[in-house]
This record gives sequence, structure tokens and C-alpha cells, in this order.
Amino acid sequence: MPGTPHTTQLAVIGAGPGGYAAAFLAADLGLQVTLIDPEPQPGGVCLYRGCIPSKALLHVAKLLDEARQATRWGVTFAAPTIDVEKLRAWKESVVHKLTGGLADLCQRRHVAYIQGRATFRNATTLAVHTASGEDIEVTFTQAIVATGSQPATLPRLAVDWRDGVGAGRSPSPRLLDSTSALALTDIPRTLLVIGGGYIGLEMGSVYAALGTQVSVVEMTAGLLPGVDRDLVHVLSRRLEQSLAAIMLNTTVVAMQAAVDGISVTFEGAELQQPQQVFEKVLIAVGRRPHSQGLGLENTRVEIDQRGFITVDAQRRTAEPSIYAIGDVAGEPMLAHKATHEGRIAVEAIAGHKVAFEPHAIPAVVFTDPEIAWCGLTETQAKQEGRRIEVARFPWAASGRAMTLDRTDGVTKLILDPETGRVLGVGLAGSGAGELIAEGVLAVEMAALASDVALSIHPHPTLSETLMEAAEAFSGQSTHIYRPQRRRSSA
Ligand code: NAD
Repeated sequence: MPGTPHTTQLAVIGAGPGGYAAAFLAADLGLQVTLIDPEPQPGGVCLYRGCIPSKALLHVAKLLDEARQATRWGVTFAAPTIDVEKLRAWKESVVHKLTGGLADLCQRRHVAYIQGRATFRNATTLAVHTASGEDIEVTFTQAIVATGSQPATLPRLAVDWRDGVGAGRSPSPRLLDSTSALALTDIPRTLLVIGGGYIGLEMGSVYAALGTQVSVVEMTAGLLPGVDRDLVHVLSRRLEQSLAAIMLNTTVVAMQAAVDGISVTFEGAELQQPQQVFEKVLIAVGRRPHSQGLGLENTRVEIDQRGFITVDAQRRTAEPSIYAIGDVAGEPMLAHKATHEGRIAVEAIAGHKVAFEPHAIPAVVFTDPEIAWCGLTETQAKQEGRRIEVARFPWAASGRAMTLDRTDGVTKLILDPETGRVLGVGLAGSGAGELIAEGVLAVEMAALASDVALSIHPHPTLSETLMEAAEAFSGQSTHIYRPQRRRSSA
């Protein structure tokens, strides 16, 4: 059904943390803005089926783990009773509150929100099929594509549904992706997670805490490929206790529906059981940019071989009226990177002199312990043949970590050996995700180790581990003894 044509200065396609932040800033700068998304309210994958619901569940997982650990402190709780429906409802209430809040902010800023799917007709026109079945033509001066990404699939491992009665052609409900895993329809007895990355480990941890026997299969030699090994090691040690199995250097070669689950065939050098049945299987092998089906072929926007939209430092595409931000515009696929890019794109549209040139995009894996890093990593320095010095502070020497009974952690600064400039920060430990923000500031402000060391940190907190790592650079950390390598000239 044709609807009323709509004209706007800025059309933002996709209302995730990239798109809605861009739309809000543009409205604040006085632009007339239209935000388009298939969901009823802004939020995108992050709020509806990503960051937020997973963190709500990870919070519960941490509580369950701590309650179990409390026995060591002389406090014993009865085994938990988990009301899955109530847990799901609580998680959904968090999502609802946040997306509702965004809808309200949209209205207050006079951002026109259209619930629907947009496709480009040309460099200044979108065809939008709305949720109510209308077809609207939206004419814009500028557009920002913020359509995000979607889970990568393994088509050769598709499993048809044939539990109980005969074979069917629909995909097996036992096969999960991040969205269906977060839906938390039930707590399976066993779960295989394919992919030892962010999603696999976060969701694997949630289900393990809820009582599922979780196995993880990872095709590379270690969990979280690319992340510094000393950080991953801290996490692996704990996961070895909470997970049923971690199979490295292993791939899944076949999956078949079985009566009581999915029968999985593995291939790998160190396998004990090459075939096993799991009640459910979660595929978490990465995400791919959502750049298809947007009509970009009707514009001059260019897409690279991996499906990312090519953008310049202002996030402008090869089509001057169209910008792209977030997961669809390249890695890392992180919400906060999308938000920052949204700011850059909007300011560029508003005529400000800006560029996307961060020195530190923080990454956090919200497992327990958490892993967080920003700026230069040891792995990257090695690959680039860059000379660095690493100052480490083990959490075993932190009073605060001891009071939390969580000495399984490490804080490290990656430093320029000549100047002591902080080039990167890495953390593994409980709450590392909150601590990394100081690292980001240090890297962005070109702080020296001495700047961090001379900033008084509150005691007793885990933040002191950053200060003490900085002190360790000059051999003067209070709580670890290292032979002095550098003496102050005083
Ligand atoms: P990922 O890239 O983090 O991990 C995928 C893992 O799967 C890798 O370790 C890879 O080696 C492995 N793998 C790939 N194919 C495989 C196969 N056939 N068999 C076994 N292992 C295989 O991807 P993800 O966990 O799906 O997450 C996708 C993206 O979403 C991440 O890159 C991240 O940007 C984002 N994300 C971020 C957060 C966060 O910020 N905390 C949380 C979730 C997702």
C-alpha cells in the first residue's frame, strides 16, 4: 500500500548503538532526522539480542557462581532453584525499559522513527516497507547506513528437524545461534558451543552456570584467537573447571539429528570421543556485515570482499551522500566503536573537521573472569616487530583481589621502552571490563607510565593494579619485589 512520501535531511538506516546515537546527535545539532529500523523501538542487536540481554544473564551467572564459591567463606546456600520463565521475563524487562527509554528520547528530540525495512533506490531515495504494510518513499539529503551484522552460519552443517516422528525440512530447533541462545527457551542438559570466541564463551558461561554441561569446540589452537595468551590463560584456567570440555584444534565435520539431540562428529588430533550427542548446539563462529539486500547496488557505495562497506576517515562511502558506520563498515564489530563512528559521521555531515582516528578501541569479553584490552597488544607488537616493554601486576599481590577471593587476574601495561608511554593495556580478572576505561584514557591522552603511577588510586580497589603495573615499570611497585632497573634521578 503506497504511503505518504517523506522528505528528510538525514536518514539513518538501522537503530542500533551506531544508528540511534548518530540520529540523536544529528537532531541535537539541528538536523531534521528520520531513523528507520524493523524493530518497534530503537536498540538494534545490542539491546534486543546482544550486549544487553547477554549481560543480564551473565550477571545471574556470576551470582550463581559466587553463591557456590561462598562455601569457601563459611556461607553455604541451598542449591538454587531456577525459574527460567521468571529469569527470561527479568532479562526482557531490562531490554524493554532500555528500548522504551530510547523511543522516548527519539520523540523528545523530534526524530521521526519509522518501523520498517529500507532499501536504496538511488543516492537520495529510499523505499521503506513499513511494519504496518505501507510502502513509503523517503527522500534524503544524506544517509547513514548502520545496519550492523548477523550471525555467520555453517550451511554445510545444517540439521533438519526430525526429532521423534520422521524427517522434516525445517532447521532443527536444537541448533542455536546467539539470538535463540539468548531467548533461553529452556536449560538443556548438554550444549555444544561451536566457536571459542566472544559469543561462544559468554553464552557458554551463562548456560554452564545455569547447570548445563557445556562443551566448547574451537578450530584454532586456543580460545579467543588473536587475544594475548597470558590474558586468555587466566580465563582458560577457570573455564576448565566450569565447562565439561574444551576441544582445541578441532572442527565439526558432520551433524545429524538424533532422537534425543544432535549427533556431532569431530575431527582433531587430540580427540577422546570423535562422536558425541548433545541436546543443543550453539553456533558462534563470527558475524558477517549486513550489507546485502539494502539496494546498495543502486548507488555508488562500494563493498569489499568480506561484505564490509568501504568508508573514508569521515565514514563517507564512495557515494558522497551516503555514510556507513558500525559493524557494516568494518571491524572491530563492537557497539562502542559504532557509537563513536556515528558521532564522527554526523559531525562530518554538519561540516565539522573530524576524523575517525582512535588509538584505543577497548574490547571486553564478559566472561568470569573478564578479559579486556585496548590499544597495542603484545600479539600485535610481535607481529609488527615493534619493541615494547610490558609491565605486569599479578592480582595475587592485590589486597582488594584477595578480599574478593579473586586473585586470578593480571594487569599489564604495554609501554614504549624509551619513553614509558602507555601504548596499550591488558587486563584479565573479575570486573576487568570496568577497569579498562582508565587504560583507554591513558592511551588516548598519551600518558606515561609515571603519569599513571603518580595518579593516586583509591585503596583498596582493583584499579590500584593499574597504578602498581605502572610502578613496576620503574621497579618500584609497592606490593611486588622486582630488582630495580631504573632509578629516578632525584
Ligand atoms: P568471534 O570471531 O569472536 O569467534 C568465533 C570463533 O569461532 C573463533 O575463535 C574462530 O576461530 C571459531 N571458529 C570459526 N569457525 C569455526 C568452526 N567451523 N569450528 C570451530 N570453531 C570455529 O565471533 P563470535 O563469538 O561469533 O562473535 C562475533 C562478534 O560479535 C565478535 O567478533 C565481536 O565483535 C562481537 N561480540 C562482542 C561481544 C563483546 O563485546 N563482549 C560479545 C559478543 C559478540
